[in-house]
Amino acid sequence: MRQKHALIPTLRTVGEAEMMSHQLLLRAGMIRQLAAGIYSYLPLAQRSLRKIEQIVREEMDGIEGQEVLLPAMNPAELWEETGRYQNYGPELVKLQDRHGRAFVLGPTHEETITDLVRDEWSSYKKLPLTLYQIQTKFRDERRPRSGLLRGREFIMKDAYSFHADRDSLDETYDKMYQAYVNIFTRCGLDFRAVEADAGAIGGKGTHEFMVLADAGEDTIVICKACDYAANVEMAEVVQQTAKADPDEAQMQKVATPGSATIADVAEFLQLPESQTVKTMVFLVDGEPVMVLVQGDHEVNDVKVKNLLNASVVEMADEETIQEFCGGPIGYLGPVGLKKKMKVLADQALLAHSSFIIGANERDYHYVNAVDGRDFQVDQYADLRNIQEGDVCPRCGGEVGFAKGLEVGHIFKLGTRYSDSMKATFLDQNGKTQPFIMGCYGIGISRVLAAIVEQSHDENGIIWPTSVAPFQVHVVAVNSKDEEQLRVAENLYEQLRASGYEVLFDDRAERAGVKFKDADLLGIPVRVVVGTKAKDGIVELKIRRTGEATECAPEEVVGKVPELLLQTDK
Ligand code: ATP
Ligand code: MG
Repeated sequence: MRQKHALIPTLRTVGEAEMMSHQLLLRAGMIRQLAAGIYSYLPLAQRSLRKIEQIVREEMDGIEGQEVLLPAMNPAELWEETGRYQNYGPELVKLQDRHGRAFVLGPTHEETITDLVRDEWSSYKKLPLTLYQIQTKFRDERRPRSGLLRGREFIMKDAYSFHADRDSLDETYDKMYQAYVNIFTRCGLDFRAVEADAGAIGGKGTHEFMVLADAGEDTIVICKACDYAANVEMAEVVQQTAKADPDEAQMQKVATPGSATIADVAEFLQLPESQTVKTMVFLVDGEPVMVLVQGDHEVNDVKVKNLLNASVVEMADEETIQEFCGGPIGYLGPVGLKKKMKVLADQALLAHSSFIIGANERDYHYVNAVDGRDFQVDQYADLRNIQEGDVCPRCGGEVGFAKGLEVGHIFKLGTRYSDSMKATFLDQNGKTQPFIMGCYGIGISRVLAAIVEQSHDENGIIWPTSVAPFQVHVVAVNSKDEEQLRVAENLYEQLRASGYEVLFDDRAERAGVKFKDADLLGIPVRVVVGTKAKDGIVELKIRRTGEATECAPEEVVGKVPELLLQTDK
């Protein structure tokens, strides 16, 4: 593509954009905002998006996915069948046609695909079935301020699978997982697959694919030694669990005036926070449960929920706390409860020979409180959030926290949609069964931005070759110089004839402007045709490393493959 007539409106600065990817995509003339969270993709962005889509298509087709394209405009009745017309929330874009019939612009397509399959598919013999599409989605996001990372209109690949049994779903899920690993690897991303909380479905039913980037909204745990990664809520804490011998000293009530927080208590008693015990009271499916953790740890309510096989865990209200403990928040503890309730303790507390804990009385704590003598813990378990410096549950190394950007999500849906939409097939015995389903999403436009978040420097974008809008950038430094222009033209034609995608800077711009733009656009390999062209020398430059070498114009085509390899190292 000749730059002279290309729609690549580069900018030196942009005002409003916070995220690096947002800034750089605007500055490189790749996107323009039409309204908040709604963007036009200009030619360079469109080329990169097509490449990401192609990678996705190859990997989806590779696991027998079949591409479809469903309507973006969906009748509200379908969404009413699953209750999501009311429950999806304000992100759902609703509209009416000229007859006053209600429609939605699809933010995701479980309803639409389930409707299609229930009408067309009726026998177990035709299962499993995996369908996917690459389509524009609509979500009226609350804060669409991060450019392509969070659009209100954005491109998603969404896939759905239909199965006769759980094993078949598990098999497809595992293949999807691997396909996602391939996709993000091929896009040049540094990512981790993290297990997420599957909510009501439970079990290992969902993974999120997180790109490691400071712009990420999620905090994830990663191991510094192996590739273990997890959602903070899900990460298992491994700890030695030998019970310490109990303290023989008598329990004592001590005045701790105005010490309603762990920090206050620790300071008042001149002890580290790790020697105190934090008490929380939850309502677990409506029943009060007390949870104790070491003062410097945080209770993990997902773990409480999973331990008790419950569906809802919420903080207890004041009234319940009064009824069961008798004391105010800030001074709670398991000693002398007014009414019996379950008491759980995090396993780290096994190492404490006695507890410093609230006395259920304002301005008082107990010291030397011993489990089994002064109060009763019903069960010790892993109930806290993992922290930086904890042990990796997989390899024993050390874990740390990192910011993650969710680019993909795979999910075992089970029969959630097929039940409510009565989507059934006939099994081997001729019995009607609901389809067992999975769904699998990738934010294609978010992936584009995530790549930029991870791959840039102070001068601009650095595209991995697989998704670069062009592979080679030929720059004629002075396009008024006939010799330079002739050599550059020749190279442009030769490279294209050899199958490369080439951007040719033939503009009548100053050299400085051309170099700045070339850095900003971030095409992997640059061929600079300058003053030495008359002596039969041009320069080859790798954008990622800045490494430059000289060669004769005739050698350029032969050298490009090796340079492209080097740029992705
Ligand atoms: P988030 O928590 O970031 O809002 P989500 O959980 O709502 O994401 P899913 O419903 O799982 O996302 O959608 C599948 C994929 O679509 C996500 O993994 C993400 O890559 C992408 N995605 C979701 N919302 C947006 C958006 N507003 N803009 C761009 N991509 C998005
Ligand atoms: Mg969302």
